[in-house]
Amino acid sequence: MRLRDGFILSNKHLLDAVAAEVVVCVKCDLCKGRKKAVPGVGNPESRVLFIGEAPGQSEDLKGEPFVGAAGKFLNTLLSEIGFSRADVFITNVVKCRPPRNRDPRPDEIETCTPYLNRQIGIIQPKLIVTLGNHSTAYVLSKAQLPFHSITQARGKVYETTILGLKVAVFPTFHPAAALYSVRYEKQLEEDFQRMKEELLKRGLASLPTS
Ligand code: URA
Ligand code: SF4
Repeated sequence: MRLRDGFILSNKHLLDAVAAEVVVCVKCDLCKGRKKAVPGVGNPESRVLFIGEAPGQSEDLKGEPFVGAAGKFLNTLLSEIGFSRADVFITNVVKCRPPRNRDPRPDEIETCTPYLNRQIGIIQPKLIVTLGNHSTAYVLSKAQLPFHSITQARGKVYETTILGLKVAVFPTFHPAAALYSVRYEKQLEEDFQRMKEELLKRGLASLPTS
C-alpha cells in the first residue's frame, strides 16, 4: 500500500492498471500473432520478482506466464525452496508471444519493457531472479553491468541499483533449458538452493506481508 496524490492505492490496483494496458497493447507487431497478451501473475505484495523471456504457446492461450512445460519445472524448483507461484510475482521481458517462439527482437524488447519497468517500480522487489539470457541481459544492462553469457552470469548475486531502486539480481538458466539437458536441470536446482540462502539472508524466505 502507498499514498499517491492523497489516495491509497494497493500494488494490486496499480499492477492491474498495467495489465489492463498490456492486454490491449498494439505498440509492436507481436500483437498481430497473439491470442492473449501475458502481463504477469502472483502476489502483488511480494518482494521477489521472477522475469522470463516471452510467452510460449500455452501462455499465449491462457494469458498467464509459465503455464507450459517450462512452467511446470519452475513450479517444482519453487516448491523445492519452499515457495509457490502465488508467493512471488512472475512476468516476462516481452508480454506477447513471438511467432514460432523465436527470440524477441531488440526493437520489441525496447517497445515492451516500459511495462516491465513500471511493474518493477510498483513491486519494488528486493530480489529479482532473471531466467535465461534475455531477461538477464536486460536487467544487467539497466544496472549498467556487463553481460557476456548466462553461463558466466548465473548463480551469483549482483547487489545493484536499477531504475533508482536498490536491488539484488540473481540470474539463472531459463527453466526450459532443463527440458533439453540434465546438466542444466542440476545447475538450476543448485542455483535455486543458492537463491534460498539469499532469500533467508534477506528475510524474504517466508510469505511477505506488505
Ligand atoms: N518461457 C518464458 O520465458 N516465459 C513464459 O512465460 C513461458 C515460457
Ligand atoms: Fe505491446 Fe509488448 Fe505485446 Fe508488443 S509485446 S504488443 S509492446 S504488450
